[in-house]
Amino acid sequence: MLLIQCPWCGRRDESEFSYGGEADIARPEDPDALDDTQWADYLFMRSNRKGHNREIWNHQHGCRRWFVAERDTVSYEIQATFPMGGQEQDS
Ligand SMILES: [Zn+2]
Repeated sequence: MLLIQCPWCGRRDESEFSYGGEADIARPEDPDALDDTQWADYLFMRSNRKGHNREIWNHQHGCRRWFVAERDTVSYEIQATFPMGGQEQDS
């Protein structure tokens, strides 16, 4: 059983959470200036790096808040979780 540290609720079972995707995706400054290919890149193309990643997670069956998790995609270990725009907390 994997436990994930919610920044507000503490450690909870992974079944309470949902994955929201890669963190730190910058929204285009001028969305009207993008063509379809650029929109597709923004919406669907992700780096899919092996190893350390920053991801967005939601405590769906708890406080329902979004937060950032730093996770290793090889070992599945979550090194830290923290509120979006906040500071790191130990996991
Ligand atoms: Zn929570």
